[in-house]
Formats: sequence, structure tokens, C-alpha cells
Amino acid sequence: MGKIAYADLVNPAVLNQPTYEPGKPIETVAREFGLDPHTIIKLASNENPLGPSPLAQAAVTRMLGEVNFYPDGGTTVIREKLAAFWNLRPDQFLVGNGSNEAMILLAQAFLRPGDEVVFGEQAFIVYKLAALLFGAKPVAVPMPKFTHDLAAMRAAITEKTKLVFLTCPNNPTGTINAAEEILQFARELPEHVILCFDEAYAEFLPDCADIRPLIDEGRKIVGARTFSKIYGLAGLRVGYLYGDAKLISLVQRTRQPFNVNLPAQIAAVAALDDTAFVQLSREVNTAGLRQLEKGFGKLGLSFIPSHANFIVFHVPQAAQIFDALQRQGVIVRPLAGYGMPDSLRVTVGTAEQNTRFLATLGTILGKGK
Ligand SMILES: *Cc1c(COP(=O)(O)O)cnc(C)c1O
Repeated sequence: MGKIAYADLVNPAVLNQPTYEPGKPIETVAREFGLDPHTIIKLASNENPLGPSPLAQAAVTRMLGEVNFYPDGGTTVIREKLAAFWNLRPDQFLVGNGSNEAMILLAQAFLRPGDEVVFGEQAFIVYKLAALLFGAKPVAVPMPKFTHDLAAMRAAITEKTKLVFLTCPNNPTGTINAAEEILQFARELPEHVILCFDEAYAEFLPDCADIRPLIDEGRKIVGARTFSKIYGLAGLRVGYLYGDAKLISLVQRTRQPFNVNLPAQIAAVAALDDTAFVQLSREVNTAGLRQLEKGFGKLGLSFIPSHANFIVFHVPQAAQIFDALQRQGVIVRPLAGYGMPDSLRVTVGTAEQNTRFLATLGTILGKGK
């Protein structure tokens, strides 16, 4: 025994697959540093600091006694609701266990070894992971001023390119491209390329590029949206793709029969009606961004102006600052994995959380009040 290792048996794409580094959970930090979990604030994963949508929470609570049943594998009610919300048809939606899963399924449906996947160098790391998992080649395009360079992305496309990911606003940089520029980019893509437009933070923008006319024109474009961010449902895992019904039906073949759990389905339907919560979340976020920008200014730190619910700031010795913040019960996100070793990303919290974060940071930097 012992002559054949698992490494000899495993799919090589899996063997070489890097792992995603999530924001640290509160419990982990509490244990690691001997802190009371209730005193910790997590500003690491762009979650909604106001909690879940109250309508969603109430709906989930009402139906917890029914989780002995499988959920609707066809996610019929959500897709009908989404169709009405977007003025599209139900067969134009695929619901996933988070939009992360939905994008992985898109990659699984279309990528073959040798294909190329184009995305921004400081864009969501999941695009690279999706490419590698299916044996495709990740092509990371530099982002001057931390913004997607659409001309450079266009130039990076070859006859092998199968998928392009574009994020607006982008995570982790919070930057955007003008709607007109995005639509033009999409219209100029060659026919063998599918554009995945990741709109995880689009609800935080006053207006976002509307790709529905492009879908109508028969262009190969698919939108990805999530309930994890502005709707406050990250823990339930629900997001979706929307696009041409033919594309969607191909992606549907790759998913598990019951990929979206019952509470998640109920919550998503209720959350779509919660316009008051979305509005409030947007207002609190805008005020929080201004508060953080002002705070960074006072501390003499530069930052990347953000259009999302998080903001990147630059500090020397970011790794040490990250660690020191954690010891004080404030969890943020290091960005070394994105090639930004001198930057940290902080999620916009409530006014109180932002104040605590800024005060803690100030003390660590020796610039307390
Ligand atoms: C958070 C996020 C998502 C969505 O994640 P879920 O799987 O729906 O929780 C997708 N794209 C980006 C860029 C994100 O930051």
C-alpha cells in the first residue's frame, strides 16, 4: 500500500486549485484573541450592517417548521417574482446558492480546458478560481487607478477567450465604469465571447448599466445579482443569473436538483418587496462612506473613492495593522492576495461601528484623537 497517492488520482485542476480566503468569522477571532464575540465588529465581508431585510426575516421565521420538505427545485416563485421585477421572463433566470455558485455553474457549463477567461487584475478572485477549476487559463488585465480598463480588456481577448467577467461596482476596489462605456464594450465583443456582468453591489449605485437591451439584441451577456449584500441575506446563500433563455437553460443542466434551500427561497421573494429596507441601507451606506472618507482624511490616509458598501484605504504595514485591528475586535480584509499589500478593505458599518473602527485605527497609528 501507499504507492499511489491521492495526488496521482486527483483531477489536476483540483490539485492546483487555490483556496478562497474569506473574511474571518467573529467566532474565530473571538477564540484566537480571547475576546467576547459580542464586542467584535466584522467589517470584512461587505455584509449589511443593518441586519437582514425585516420582511425576509419574518417570512423565514414563519416557515421554519416546514423545512422537512425539499425546496422547489425549479425555484418557480422566485423566478416569477424576478421576472416581474425586471420585466423579463421566468426562463431567463437561474437561481443559485449565492451568485458565486451561479457564476461557477456558468463556468462549468461553458469552459473547456484551453479556453481563456478575461477579468480585471484587482477584480473578485472567484473569476480566477472559476477559470482554474475547469482547466481554463485566467487572463488578469491590469487596472490602472484600480478601475477596469475596458480597452485593455478588449485587447486581451483572443479566439480562445470564452468568458469575460466585468464587475460594477468592482470588489475589492469599489470603482465603476460609466454605463455607456460598459454597454459599448459589451456591444463590441466578438460573438464567441460570453460577458458575465457581476452586479453584486449595483443596488448601491444611483443608476447602473442596464444590460437588458443587450440581452434583447441577442448579445451573449449574462447578469449576476445577489441577495447577500444590500438585502442582507449573505448567510442564506441566494443569488441569480439573468440572460438569454437559451444560455440560462444550458446553465440549468449543471446544477443540483435542489441547489437553493427553502428558507433562502422564501427570504429572497420577501426581500424583493422590501424597498424601504433597500432605501434605508443605501442611505446609511452613503452616509457611512462620507464618514469613513472624512476619517481617513483626518488620519492622513489615502483611499480609493468607492461606489459600493466598502472602501479601500492605504496604510504602510497593512498586515500588522490588520492584525492589530483584530486584536481590538475589529475585523477588516487584507488585500495582499489582490496584489495590494499596502491596502486594507473595510466594509461600511453603522455610524457607531465606523466611529469605533476609525478610533481604533487612529490609536494603532498613534494618531488617537
Ligand atoms: C459578494 C459578491 C458576490 C456574491 O456573492 P454571493 O455568493 O451571492 O454571496 C458576487 N460578486 C462579487 C464581486 C461579490 O463581491
